[in-house]
Amino acid sequence: MKAIIAPWQNFLSKKFDLAYKKAFFSKFNKKFCYISKKCGEKIGRFNKKFYGLLKGGYMDFRDALLERFLNYTEFDTQSKITGKSSPTTLGQLKLAKQLEQELYTLELEEIKLSKHSVLTAFLPANMPNAPTIGLIAHLDTSPECSGKNVCAEVIENYRGGDIALGIGDEFISPVFYPFLHKHVGNTLIVADGNTLLGADNKAGIAEIMTALSVLKKTNIPHCNIRVAFTPDEEIGVGMKYFPIDQFLCDWAYTIDGGEVGELEYENFNGASAKVTIHGRNMHTGYATGKMINALTLACEFQQIFPTAETPEKTENKEGFFHLSRFIGDVEKVELHYLIRDFDAQKFEQRKRFIETAVANFNRNKKLRKKVELEIQNNYKNMYQTVQKTPQSIALADLAMRECGIEPLHKPIRGGTDGAWLAEKGLACPNIFTGGYNFHSKHEVITLEGMESAVNVIVKIAELAVAK
Ligand SMILES: [Zn+2]
Repeated sequence: MKAIIAPWQNFLSKKFDLAYKKAFFSKFNKKFCYISKKCGEKIGRFNKKFYGLLKGGYMDFRDALLERFLNYTEFDTQSKITGKSSPTTLGQLKLAKQLEQELYTLELEEIKLSKHSVLTAFLPANMPNAPTIGLIAHLDTSPECSGKNVCAEVIENYRGGDIALGIGDEFISPVFYPFLHKHVGNTLIVADGNTLLGADNKAGIAEIMTALSVLKKTNIPHCNIRVAFTPDEEIGVGMKYFPIDQFLCDWAYTIDGGEVGELEYENFNGASAKVTIHGRNMHTGYATGKMINALTLACEFQQIFPTAETPEKTENKEGFFHLSRFIGDVEKVELHYLIRDFDAQKFEQRKRFIETAVANFNRNKKLRKKVELEIQNNYKNMYQTVQKTPQSIALADLAMRECGIEPLHKPIRGGTDGAWLAEKGLACPNIFTGGYNFHSKHEVITLEGMESAVNVIVKIAELAVAK
């Protein structure tokens, strides 16, 4: 028997709600905002022109900062692990070209955009004998989560509780993400549940651009600043064509961290390993004694790894092995691993562990075609280099405190472009952007956090020339 649903029940049902919103949204087709009441929050989806109109243009840097960020999120700059070119995706070059124009508008000097999408520029100091500080952010977003057709949603005056992302089933909740409790009353920016947001690292780009704009428009005394926006950071190859000889700085910062206050200058030593297992396919009816199933062999090989040493089961300075990709069929399987450790000696031991595992597997299995192993070093811990330039940490600490922020020194459980620069001798700690849940559909950033990042960058430039 079919249940009879009263019209008001139907109205309240999720199905009706979704259909209504879909129709409403498609009608206005991103040209205007829609505002819906959901869980007591006001959710607004803004197109950049509309936001400017709504807020009366660029009256202060808060609006300009938000507009910049929303604009950058519209570029699909997802990098591609298998990409052969540099940058690995065209979207990164498109964003770099737009940023190049913005740098010209800001009247920076020595603006250069290489064919590999490395964009650099220079803002001369307005004080004598000033040091030169580098500011770096990356153009790409993670290949682990779609960054195409990002629809950013701006939630003003967050009142606490769950936040529905777009019109799908995704939501973020303080039950799973307790950090949300800290942001009641703030302006949150999220994606619509279909893609990542791209705050990693477009928030960093927007913050650097806005800080440059503030420095240009005010008479704040400041140091020399070199800026670099780089491609393919997420896949660890972005610095291949970085013009290190021209990026002459006393030290630099990547603006690529998480929550407000984060200051990071220790990172993993990182390597990747590819294990290739060869099998022999055969009709299952004739397989007896002949088939070699590379998939089963791969499952067996994976059992060699310590189950407690994975990203999801380790924290702080604990290292891990991470099986990041498992691709193949009966004939051939590739296992891709990330190897991470803060300690250089333990890092080397982890690489030896895989080498020994492969050697033992080959010896025990006596396969007609041996299991192959390729190990590639990705980055080193920047700690030693940063220690040689302690003023890079002292200045960031001081700038944060002067902005009313308590610095939060943390190890980076990953790598940054700063790690590559550190290997070349340039200290490059990492400063917060204000974002959370990077590389995920649940990525979120606060506008207040982004404002704090701009304030800290400006303050660093100012304090660098203070007597
Ligand atoms: Zn990043």
